[in-house]
Amino acid sequence: MARANAAYYATKNPFRDFTTAPEISQIFGELLGAWAATVWRQIGRPTPFILAEAGPGRGTLMRDARRATSRVAPDFHAAARVNFIETSPRLRAIQRDAVPDAIWHDDLSEIPPGQLILLANEFLDALPIRQFVRAGGTWQERYVHDGVFVLQRAAAPAPSTAAPVGTIREQGDAACAWTKTLAARLVAQGGAALILDYGPARSGPGDSLQALRSGHPADPLADPGTADLTAHVDFQAVAEVASAEGAARWGPLPQGEFLARLGLLPRVAALASCNPDGAAAIRDGVHRLAAPSRMGQLFKALAITHPAAPPPPGFEA
Ligand code: SAH
Repeated sequence: MARANAAYYATKNPFRDFTTAPEISQIFGELLGAWAATVWRQIGRPTPFILAEAGPGRGTLMRDARRATSRVAPDFHAAARVNFIETSPRLRAIQRDAVPDAIWHDDLSEIPPGQLILLANEFLDALPIRQFVRAGGTWQERYVHDGVFVLQRAAAPAPSTAAPVGTIREQGDAACAWTKTLAARLVAQGGAALILDYGPARSGPGDSLQALRSGHPADPLADPGTADLTAHVDFQAVAEVASAEGAARWGPLPQGEFLARLGLLPRVAALASCNPDGAAAIRDGVHRLAAPSRMGQLFKALAITHPAAPPPPGFEA
């Protein structure tokens, strides 16, 4: 399910259909740049090292992170080799304008070896999910066939626990497989990853598949490849995969709390004081990112590191 997304990202401008944190406020990328610079010092200042981003969209997060670190962490800035994981040729062209010195790959497995610091904002939610419906004493799997949902016997691996008839469960097998590759690499070669996305901290039932077209909810089955399809990320499942590979996992923390711990409020005050005319818009953007009623609670931050690494910034006890 949600494989139509590859066609969608390859042909459409997703940012007409939805807005993401880096597009809302430059502070988001600036704080994540500072996060990466601190992690780089914690892991012994490897020079050079790979600063990667999965699914960079318009390249805004990395552009803002690079601009900020060129001033506040020039040694980190000079050591970073920016690597993007992006399958859409259309978005790669936009990313090239934002971050001209990046190197592109289709897949995580193509990133050159070495210590890695990786950022992934709203990447996992774009990967395909599987949905299961409890029917009688078994789980049936929901497939899309000729534009409608059909139920068939569930393929393995399916949920193992019983549930009331009609319960829907989702499995992010693609997100878990991706995280497994990432965690294995961090254990073997060192480094850290920061995953930000929307979804619950604990696994639970429910149908979260959603389609957005021009900013409005749409039928996920209509006109495949023309709407953005996303689903909640199951952070419990993703974190357990990382632990099973031997990596350390930190969080998940609600995005609002995480950004506050990285110094969101002093940064807002500084930016607003340099730009009094834009101060209201700056505060409004930050409210969208951090307020519990907006993106501050549903969105989560999860870090995965080499098992010997200290707590990354924001995840200290
Ligand atoms: N991180 C950006 C964009 C999020 S949209 C932001 O916060 O604004 C999801 C991004 O992931 C897009 O860049 C999309 O093209 C990319 N993407 C989706 N599926 C992918 C896959 N399987 N491999 C690599 N990139 C993918």
